[in-house]
Amino acid sequence: MITVGVDIGSVAPKGVLLNGEKRYSTVLPTGWSPRDAGEKILSTLFRESCIGQHQVDYIIVTGYGRVSFGQADRTVTEISCHARGVAALCPEARTIIDIGGQDSKVISINEKGKVLDFAMNDKCAAGTGKFLQVMANTLGMDVAELAAAEDPSETITINSMCTVFAESEIIGLLARNISKGGIIAGLHQSVGKRVASMARRMGAREKIAFTGGVAQNAGVRRALEEELKNSVVVPEGCQFTGALGAALLGIETRQ
Ligand code: ADP
Repeated sequence: MITVGVDIGSVAPKGVLLNGEKRYSTVLPTGWSPRDAGEKILSTLFRESCIGQHQVDYIIVTGYGRVSFGQADRTVTEISCHARGVAALCPEARTIIDIGGQDSKVISINEKGKVLDFAMNDKCAAGTGKFLQVMANTLGMDVAELAAAEDPSETITINSMCTVFAESEIIGLLARNISKGGIIAGLHQSVGKRVASMARRMGAREKIAFTGGVAQNAGVRRALEEELKNSVVVPEGCQFTGALGAALLGIETRQ
């Protein structure tokens, strides 16, 4: 059985192809067209795995751009795909914190990976990957460099909730020669606080798995652990959780 999961996110489309025990994963920048992004993911996966589209048994698409993509057999919500992906990567997890480019979610699952409840922030950039991208840009850095550059011992509290005002606040702090490492720790704390309060309202239960592109940022993980007073596990390939879940649901649908 060969299945593909495509997760067309706001920042990066991701794809996972499963061929028995073999797994191929790919990620690209989304660009302006979610449909083209999804097609590029498929062609990259087919090239890397040396598998032709005619050999594929089932394709499931998820993510915000899923409705624009015409090549899938089925569309499934990100919530279900993340739950399925985490059940495979971290079976002990009962709470999932997913922080992507334009939203953050908290999902409560049972021991079979079934979704019990979820909460989502997709109204405001604060507490999302986009917030960190804008702030990294203001600091003249790449988002991937933030975690290594933070200095939690000098954390500067960022007061502005709104991304636009927070950007002005950072410019003001830099003008006063405040330590960059302290500012970055404060940004991680700001994201951690917002998402942790959503997790607390959901009644976050152990173990807590952290997924999505932002889970690659060890500073946000640290801030979440501090806020939740609990350990947070980041599964390997955290950015591919939704795409992996989609590919696994493809196997279960086809069987
Ligand atoms: P979406 O599904 O909305 O496209 P993702 O789950 O792929 O979003 O997450 C994208 C976010 O992940 C970016 O906004 C950025 O903040 C963060 N990110 C991406 N790559 C890295 C990296 N190498 N290190 C830290 N953070 C990253």
